Amino acid sequence: MTSVVGRFAPTPSGPLHFGSLVAALASWLEAKKQKGLWVLRIDDLDPLRIESGSVDSILACLEVLGLEWDQLTYQSTRQEAYQAALEQLWQAERLYGCSCSRKQLAQAPQGPEGPIYPGTCRHTPRQPQLATRFLTKGLMPAWEDQLWGTRRINLEKELGDFVVWRADGVCSYHLATVIDDQIEGVTEILRGSDLLLSADRQVALRQILGLPTPKYAHLPLATDFKGQKLSKQSGAMPVKPGGAVLVETLAFLKQNPPANLKLAGPKEVLNWGLAHWSLDQLKPKRG
Ligand SMILES: [Zn+2]
Repeated sequence: MTSVVGRFAPTPSGPLHFGSLVAALASWLEAKKQKGLWVLRIDDLDPLRIESGSVDSILACLEVLGLEWDQLTYQSTRQEAYQAALEQLWQAERLYGCSCSRKQLAQAPQGPEGPIYPGTCRHTPRQPQLATRFLTKGLMPAWEDQLWGTRRINLEKELGDFVVWRADGVCSYHLATVIDDQIEGVTEILRGSDLLLSADRQVALRQILGLPTPKYAHLPLATDFKGQKLSKQSGAMPVKPGGAVLVETLAFLKQNPPANLKLAGPKEVLNWGLAHWSLDQLKPKRG
């Protein structure tokens, strides 16, 4: 018997905004509906993105909303585990040092997420080696997204060899997330669909590291009136914690909450959410 573990992993780069709340609430409901655990993980690996005070403000906001976590973890405490995974990838001959400059990289053909690395340093190690790249040669990881269906992309062709250890000594998001999810025993990952291509990379890393693939669901993205993704970078408004914003989030997640639920407190809204939660509502309608 495997127990369900969900998670929410905000970056402390500002207060909680609506786009993050969508991922928080959906992952909480999916885990709690199955009587599972919900891990709150602070994605504080990149010191340049941290805004002081935002951890406290995110925790306080989740508390007022009644989104209680069973475990609180910080990526910045996991350095040894990331190093061990890096070593394992070296052993598997899936890594190489890259000495390309930003300017050189910018000349590579553009993919959906920036330049597709042309493999320049694969066979010709030069000094100084700046970043460590993951060799995607021959990898077409197949996996199932609960909302997007079967995924199977040619990693080398569509995304290219990606960085797993940055030149400034910071473990990349892709590798760190895989290791965190493994340590925390995460079985269900619900997050924004801007991370769909990250999942393609992460499933490939998992396969090379011999780790099982969790259940994934990549949620619709909250956008502003210009169609831009809401994010802390785009200056999205902080969430005003209360029952009303939870009802708005449930509506965004297509759960059809009744209008008068807006007058209820967070606890009552969450109880309604738990009783009615169905991820299937977000599946594209066929026919
Ligand atoms: Zn290179």
